[in-house]
Amino acid sequence: MIIKNSEYAVSAVREDQYPKDNLPEIALAGRSNVGKSSLINTLLKRKNLARTSSQPGKTQTLNFYRVNDSFYLVDVPGYGYARVSQKKRQEFGEMIQDYLETRANLRGLIILVDSRHEPTKDDIAMYNYAQYLDLPILVVCTKIDKLKKNQLNKVRANLKKNLDLSYENVSVLTFSSVSKVHVKELGDWIEDKLK
Ligand code: GDP
Repeated sequence: MIIKNSEYAVSAVREDQYPKDNLPEIALAGRSNVGKSSLINTLLKRKNLARTSSQPGKTQTLNFYRVNDSFYLVDVPGYGYARVSQKKRQEFGEMIQDYLETRANLRGLIILVDSRHEPTKDDIAMYNYAQYLDLPILVVCTKIDKLKKNQLNKVRANLKKNLDLSYENVSVLTFSSVSKVHVKELGDWIEDKLK
């Protein structure tokens, strides 16, 4: 996929705030700090389009980025945020659920997991949920540059132990925003789901 342009379009917490131009959408989910903003910026070749978690005031909304005037990347707020209240967490959950369950334009979900660790409880729940919704899933194992060569075979084993990879609509990719591993493959997966 060749990125010609990208722009922040809108933030939404409810359906009536979602974009209305009927473009297909690819959503990205993962726990906070997994490298989601970095991945969006890397894919779109932008320094600071998606705000990284090190920047204060990161809001808990669905953020829509219009790409090539032909689709949206939808940044789903990071889950597993310890500092928010139970009530707030429930609200995020409902916001994410409403979006994933009702959005007809949604063509696929990218679930980011940290390649250094086993998927968390939240990662597993998100994966099982997306599978239940019959969404095409791409599991992206982030920060692969932090692993030594001899640790690489553990990444897939960690996934396999926790996620049902026999699901017919799942692909797995290792990724790094630092060494730019598999940026093209990420774009190819998205392109394929937009067909
Ligand atoms: P988000 O909360 O999921 O959006 O995560 P960020 O993109 O803000 O990244 C969280 C932290 O991980 C930041 O300090 C990033 O610099 C770092 N990070 C993100 N991607 C990578 C990567 O591919 N490799 C390494 N080594 N660090 C990364």
